[in-house]
Amino acid sequence: MTRILLLGGTTEATRLAHHLANTDYDVLFSYAGRTANPVAQPLPTRVGGFGGVDGLSDFLRTENITHVIDATHPFAAQMSTNAVSACATTQVNLAGFERAPWQAGAGDNWQSVADIQAACDALPSDPTQVFLAIGKQHIDVFATRPEHRYLLRLVDKPTHPLPMLNAHAVIARGPFDLAGDLTLLKDHDIKIIISKNAGGIGAQAKLEAARTLGLKVIMIDRPFIPARQVFSNVDDVMTWLDHSANRGV
Ligand code: NAP
Repeated sequence: MTRILLLGGTTEATRLAHHLANTDYDVLFSYAGRTANPVAQPLPTRVGGFGGVDGLSDFLRTENITHVIDATHPFAAQMSTNAVSACATTQVNLAGFERAPWQAGAGDNWQSVADIQAACDALPSDPTQVFLAIGKQHIDVFATRPEHRYLLRLVDKPTHPLPMLNAHAVIARGPFDLAGDLTLLKDHDIKIIISKNAGGIGAQAKLEAARTLGLKVIMIDRPFIPARQVFSNVDDVMTWLDHSANRGV
């Protein structure tokens, strides 16, 4: 019998969850638990880590999971890497469900960097105003660059003081639009945006706004994830699922 574990935390995962909820498949949705009020899902849902590769392997066996669909954020490399290992160990079918990365187009002024530290290193030495659009994890790296003023956009109100003295957080949950992001960037006199190359449409407006205002974007490349099959649309995931489930694998 087919039983699916859907690793979520993205708009794509929610879209897939709504699709799967209208099928006969037995699906369990999983959240990391990063936000206080995650989007409600139309599927049975669990929250929290599994305990590394061993914990996930045990979970897959105990819960009789036959298929894992990894629809986590493209920067959730640890979870995706663990899923590759655990599924190989337990011989569970695995597919990634991932949106394409953003590409710079005409009028964009992007500098690509490998990781968050490199993004921090790429900031100029003269003080400036930075929209640090990377969520709340890893922002402490920027405490080493106190000469700049930082604007953050977070899903939840911070429970601890921000690691940078000169920082302001707006609390908002996407999707965001061009008009709103233009206003935000102008109101805070932003000169540089630091973004992860998440892809998708929910957080894309800031890039359009940067193009409109002629702002520089420091774009952090996606992290390495071990080889696995990856789909980018719901139909392809469903075809894979139907084929492998009907074959009893
Ligand atoms: P991660 O670094 O890959 O994961 C760290 C650990 O969190 C995993 O090893 C796993 O714990 C647990 N975990 C992650 N996703 C899970 C899921 N769907 N269900 C159950 N456990 C899960 O990923 P992250 O810490 O979530 O985020 C890394 C990057 O992705 C950050 O840059 C973050 O801003 C970005 N991001 C993540 C999300 C999200 O919802 N996860 C959303 C937007 C952005 P165990 O090892 O204990 O199993």
